[in-house]
Amino acid sequence: MTNLSFAIECLDCGHQTSFSPLQSGCPNCGSVWRKAVYEYEAIGKALPNLIARRPYNIWRYRELLPVRNPNPDLCLNEGGTPLLRALNLGMILSHPNLYLKDERQGPTASFKDRQAAVTITALKEAGIAEAVIASTGNVAIAYSAYAARAGIKLWAFLTSLVPAAKMREVALYGTQVIKVTGSYDQAKEVAAEFARQRGLYLDAGAKSITSVESMKTIAFEIAEQFTAQRGNSLQSLEGLSTLPWKTPDWYIQSVSGGMGPLGVYKGFEELYRMGIIERIPKIAVIQVEGCAPMVHAWRQGLEDATPVRSPHTLIATLATGDPGRTYTLLRKQILQTGGTFEMVSDQEAFRAMHFLAKMEGLSIEPAAGVAVAGLIKLVRAGQIAPDESVVINVSGHTMPIERNILGEGWSKDVILPSEQMEESTEEGLLAALSKVAIDRFPRIAIVDDNPDVRRLIRRILQSQGDYELFEAANGVEAIELIRFRRPNLVILDLMMPEMDGFAVMEALKASPDTAEIPIIVITAKELSPGEKERLRGHIQTLMQKGDFMSEDLLDEVRAFLK
Ligand SMILES: *Cc1c(COP(=O)(O)O)cnc(C)c1O
Ligand SMILES: [Zn+2]
Repeated sequence: MTNLSFAIECLDCGHQTSFSPLQSGCPNCGSVWRKAVYEYEAIGKALPNLIARRPYNIWRYRELLPVRNPNPDLCLNEGGTPLLRALNLGMILSHPNLYLKDERQGPTASFKDRQAAVTITALKEAGIAEAVIASTGNVAIAYSAYAARAGIKLWAFLTSLVPAAKMREVALYGTQVIKVTGSYDQAKEVAAEFARQRGLYLDAGAKSITSVESMKTIAFEIAEQFTAQRGNSLQSLEGLSTLPWKTPDWYIQSVSGGMGPLGVYKGFEELYRMGIIERIPKIAVIQVEGCAPMVHAWRQGLEDATPVRSPHTLIATLATGDPGRTYTLLRKQILQTGGTFEMVSDQEAFRAMHFLAKMEGLSIEPAAGVAVAGLIKLVRAGQIAPDESVVINVSGHTMPIERNILGEGWSKDVILPSEQMEESTEEGLLAALSKVAIDRFPRIAIVDDNPDVRRLIRRILQSQGDYELFEAANGVEAIELIRFRRPNLVILDLMMPEMDGFAVMEALKASPDTAEIPIIVITAKELSPGEKERLRGHIQTLMQKGDFMSEDLLDEVRAFLK
């Protein structure tokens, strides 16, 4: 099918023109704020059937992208990332409907791949051979990969805050790296002046048509995947022709300039307009505390954000101090469809990042950790209700920044004496390995009738390595186990059939052998004053299920094992 036409419409005067990537402003009024508009009615009718036959990448929605002819020679299979259920995170937050849009799985491991693919394809189509970008890291990496394929020369202006490993990757692709000692907003100014002097194409972030349009594909994919997952068959394309498609209640993303959510919103809005979905998700925009101009303006009810001149954050990816009109546009959308702006600290982001690696098996970069930390904050504040479905954009892959996250002692060393190395005697190896043997580690009994909860607690404790763990599935088993094994600590559930946690606690306290073992109670139950009284003086800590994070539990455990 040949592409239907699309036009570029000015947000300020409504004037329409055809698209050229080199034209950066409205020919009528000069405004740089414009958007692409498509023949929605015709496309809406055809889309559900068209896409079912196409590969799962961003080009399956080509009728809604500002490229006349997709270029298969440039394609790296961008987009089409999986939507993963986050069951362990959900269990800990008592929030079963959490999904992760795994953008790490793009060709250069961040969601900027979508932007780079659409922009570089449009530049190539327009015959442009040289381009300039300013970046906090990931844009430069993604553009570099696609520019290399397209034979386009790229100049990348990076703030000196960008981790050296990311800068080297940009250079590896053959891009000319220019390090700017200063903030990201300053790097943008230098890049703009350089492009102006040389008459080169400058990528204008949220003001660039191709960038915002590319982000719509995240919304299209989420709606498609949500429809497939919520039906019976995982990822099946059956049923996409039955309208409406389903959408989650929330979309959460960490932001720097805000181009991502702006485009994602436009994607959902277009689906809505075409009658494919019935509801646009609420969007939660998360910033880091040290650079949160949008959150401050939102809380004060302001239409314009006051720029943060010197951002204070280790998370360079998110250090845009001046969001400009992007904030104003996002705010308007969020006021219309619900949603919020929220901020978290660097430390909260690092914790969330560590947590996602330990509990979900996803190594994400700190910027993505910001989105997960934002989710935790909004769930705890009751702003996201337990029955609402949430998709979090896990926007990028860990770069070598882990030293900010892992404390001391993250590895154990097995040092083999050199002669034994040569002979490789079995005794030598065993002697060395005995240093990591578990029989000297503190012993903990986990008592809970729900095997998933036991597994989760086991996982939290084991992720730190140094415990010997026993499990009991009911009160009777628990007492027997504790008498026999003499653990240093008991983690006890209250509600269990037959012999409940209260009875276990009382039995342990009644026997001199076990009376001194500390007990941490973890319960999903709202306790009555009488029940609280029954526990008083007998247990060390009471933790509410769904209300503790893995680190909190670890802190408690460590405190009692000292
Ligand atoms: C760019 C980026 C962001 C912020 O995205 P914007 O929508 O441009 O503000 C968040 N996370 C990662 C990994 C990014 O690369
Ligand atoms: Zn105009």
